[in-house]
Amino acid sequence: MPASPWPGILLRLALLLVAASLFGLLIDRPALVLAGALAGYSAFQLIQLHRLERHLRTGAGTPPAGGIWGEIVRRYRRVQRRSRKRKRRLSALIREFQQSTAAMPDGTVVLSRELRIIWFNAAAERLLALRPAADIGQHLLHLLRVPAVIDYVQAGDYEAAITVEAPHRNGLMLSLQLVPYGQDQRLLIARDVTELHRLDRVRRDFVANASHELRTPLTVFGGYLEGLLADATERDDPLRGPLQAMHEQSARMATLVDQLLTLSRLDEQADPGQFEPVDVPALLRRLQAQAERLADHPLQIVLEVDDALWLRGIASDLHSVAANLINNAVKYTAADGCVRIVWQRVPEGAELAVSDTGPGIAPEHLPRLTERFYRVDAGRARPEGGTGLGLAIVKHALQRHHGELRIESTPGKGSRFSAIFPPAGLRVPALDDA
Ligand code: ADP
Repeated sequence: MPASPWPGILLRLALLLVAASLFGLLIDRPALVLAGALAGYSAFQLIQLHRLERHLRTGAGTPPAGGIWGEIVRRYRRVQRRSRKRKRRLSALIREFQQSTAAMPDGTVVLSRELRIIWFNAAAERLLALRPAADIGQHLLHLLRVPAVIDYVQAGDYEAAITVEAPHRNGLMLSLQLVPYGQDQRLLIARDVTELHRLDRVRRDFVANASHELRTPLTVFGGYLEGLLADATERDDPLRGPLQAMHEQSARMATLVDQLLTLSRLDEQADPGQFEPVDVPALLRRLQAQAERLADHPLQIVLEVDDALWLRGIASDLHSVAANLINNAVKYTAADGCVRIVWQRVPEGAELAVSDTGPGIAPEHLPRLTERFYRVDAGRARPEGGTGLGLAIVKHALQRHHGELRIESTPGKGSRFSAIFPPAGLRVPALDDA
């Protein structure tokens, strides 16, 4: 730390006062000389102050160089130099940041707390059709008037990105994600996913077309096999066994094809226009009767429904959810077990719970059950061996209704699959406005 100038200043002032006093005593006018010396000292300091103030304000003249004033000027210059250096460093940093984000293929938009646009890069200009000067300060949702974006922003859950078609260019698919940072500020990242989207479409179309093409030959094949099997059974033919196995496998393939077709239908975005009031209690009664008829072993199937509870949704989707859960429970529960189907209001909305007294599922399998083709016991050749697509269909169909699937299971005791539907879709038939 530099030495303080005060001892020198005070010493000089003391010397001045002593000299003035001595001189005053010499000429017998001590008070007058002392006052004159102090007035001269003050005038000198005022002139220095004036020079300094003028120099700082206008940059003109030379600032005082000695004493306390010189010290102040030196310190001021040092602070000025340091702040200039910091400014240069910051400008270089900002320039580098802007250059690197400008070169990024992803669009980046810096948004204020109120979602007004503060800055965006060249990719954002291209992908979101933003205008460099005109759109700064505009509200994001004024420029991106897409219902899915408005819902996304308002929902406040930015964990995942959403995919939308760019409002200004047909066919341009964008993945948009808000990334919170700093104090309530947000970055919007926009990515061109047109090609990915196209490939996904090609894959889905391929699965749908292939499944569709396989359906007719399989039906013919299954039909002939059924005839041949009936014949062989009648004649007690030794071919009966192989024919029976072929018939079972063709039925399994037909189920697989149907499930693949259902999945590709579910992959499409649900149009809210497709939603209609669905009489879930009646649907469950039909499925219960069907399950009782088709079960190949004795089983108790209990149904408890709230008859006043309907749901706005897509009837075929809700049928898929309930049928898959009930069929699984029946399929995996041994003879003399019990399957309980409950349709009720719960705090989160409505719940379709299917519980069984089946073998249960070990906890490590639970998170993967809804993956396509995932089966707990894929290796074991069981007569009830399914396709592993049932719960994937349930999950997809539920997602289209903003619902979720919860699974609880205790190995050796049984399982409880529950489909939860949010309250927005609930309908009481008497009050139904649709
Ligand atoms: P699958 O056609 O094999 O039944 P799912 O997707 O419906 O396919 O089910 C995936 C796996 O979850 C099944 O293979 C089975 O192991 C297990 N699972 C489903 N429901 C039950 C249940 N109620 N009890 C025991 N295990 C079940």
